Amino acid sequence: MSQTQQVAQAQSRVQSLAEIWDFDYTSINDITGLLKENGLYMTKKFGQNFLISDSALNKIRDFAKCAEGVRVWEVGPGLGALTAKMLQSGARVTAFEIDRGFCRILREKAFVNNSRFTLVEGDALKNWKTVWQTEGTPDVICSNLPYNVGSVFIADLIENRCLPPLMVYTLQTEVVKRICADTGDPDYSGFSVLTSIDYENKEVLKLSNRCFWPVPNVGSSVVLMKKRPQSQVPDEIAVPFIRTVRALFSQRRKTVRNNLKTAFAPEVIEKALNEADISENERAENLSVSQIAALTKALYSR
Ligand code: SAM
Repeated sequence: MSQTQQVAQAQSRVQSLAEIWDFDYTSINDITGLLKENGLYMTKKFGQNFLISDSALNKIRDFAKCAEGVRVWEVGPGLGALTAKMLQSGARVTAFEIDRGFCRILREKAFVNNSRFTLVEGDALKNWKTVWQTEGTPDVICSNLPYNVGSVFIADLIENRCLPPLMVYTLQTEVVKRICADTGDPDYSGFSVLTSIDYENKEVLKLSNRCFWPVPNVGSSVVLMKKRPQSQVPDEIAVPFIRTVRALFSQRRKTVRNNLKTAFAPEVIEKALNEADISENERAENLSVSQIAALTKALYSR
C-alpha cells in the first residue's frame, strides 16, 4: 500500500471514530437521564434489559469478529451499546429495533452521521426477510436478543435457510442449554435438532445478572453458533426434515410413532420406522440428527 493510501485509510478511520456517539452505556444515571430527557421508559413486553458491563460488551463484540467491512445484523440495539462497539471495530451494522423511542435516539443522536449504520424500524420478526431479500445473508448476526422473541427468531432464520457463517447471541441460559444439547441430554429438544443441523454451538460466556439494567430475573449466557462446513442434512430434504422434527417433538412424553400419527398414516409410519431401523416405542429425545434424516427420507420417499 502506498504512503498516500495509508494516510487516507488512517484519516477515514479517525473520521469513523469521530462519528461514534460519546455516551457512557455503563452508567445507569446517564441511561435514565437520557430516557427521561426524551420522555422514554423501559418496557417489559419488549424484553428490555440493557447490557451495562463494558467488559461483557467487549467480549461479545470480539466473539463476533467485527472487523472492517464485516456485515452484521443486530436485533434489538436498544440505545446502541453493542452497536457502538461493533461500529467502532469497522463493521457495517443493520439493526432492527421495535421501540420507536429508542429508534429516535439511534437515528437522531447516536449514529446520526454514521454511513455504516442502517436502522430497520419495527418488528424484526416481520422485517428480516425483506432485508435478507435485498441485502443477502449477513456475515454475522450479533445480538443481546429480547428473550421473548429469541428462539422464534433463530428458528425462523434456520427454517427459511438464512444461514450466516457466525451468530453470537445473548439469551436466557435455559435457551442456550437447549441450543447446545446433544441427543439424550435432558435439555435436548426439537430446537436443539434444528439449531444443530447447520451449526456447531457452544456456550462461551455466563453473564452475571449485574451485567444488565434493569436486573433480569433469569440467568443469561452467550452462545456462539458457528456454521458447519457441511450441513448435517442434505439440502434436498432440509424442508421435510424440519417438518419431521416438528411432528416428532410435538409432545414430549409420547413415543415416536404416536407423535408421527399427527402428520402421517399408520402404515406409512410403520414402513418408514422399519426402513430407518428405529423402534416405534422410541422417544424423539433419543434420536440423533442422522437418524431423523434417515427417517425423513423413508417417510417422504413414496
Ligand atoms: N442491545 C441492547 C443492549 O444490549 O443493551 C438492548 C437489548 S434488550 C435485551 C432487547 C432489545 O430488543 C430492546 O431494545 C427491545 O426494544 C428490542 N426488541 C424487542 N422485541 C423486538 C422485536 N420483535 N423486533 C426488534 N426489536 C425488538
